[in-house]
Amino acid sequence: MKKTYRGSCHCGAVRYEADIDLNKGSVKCNCSICTKMRNWLAMVKPEDFRLLRGEDELNDYQFGRKVIHHLFCRRCGVHPFGWADSPDFGGKAYAVNLACLDDATDEELAGMPVNYVDGRNDDWKTPPAEARHL
Ligand SMILES: [Zn+2]
Repeated sequence: MKKTYRGSCHCGAVRYEADIDLNKGSVKCNCSICTKMRNWLAMVKPEDFRLLRGEDELNDYQFGRKVIHHLFCRRCGVHPFGWADSPDFGGKAYAVNLACLDDATDEELAGMPVNYVDGRNDDWKTPPAEARHL
């Protein structure tokens, strides 16, 4: 069942709400930026994501095929969420950084299933051979 969570960057300039079903599972990926950021993400549809403030504080970082918008707060540097509009993600989708949720309990996060994906090889459907370090 979906529940509404509030998320923010570190300084609070960027705030959002997202309706997430934590039982549906999260994503950890081995691509170059997820590795460096240690990303732990929940994918949500546009209708389940609301940016409350801070649009002007967000910088957009893109690399490679420039499909995914890796947004970060220009004040504190934290990446509270990103988005992409691609068939790989079923159309437009937001990737919420679970580490930025302010009101998810430790128990809720600890119980969330993790789906590992092989982003390093542009394979979003198959887990990588090794994922224990992600
Ligand atoms: Zn910030």
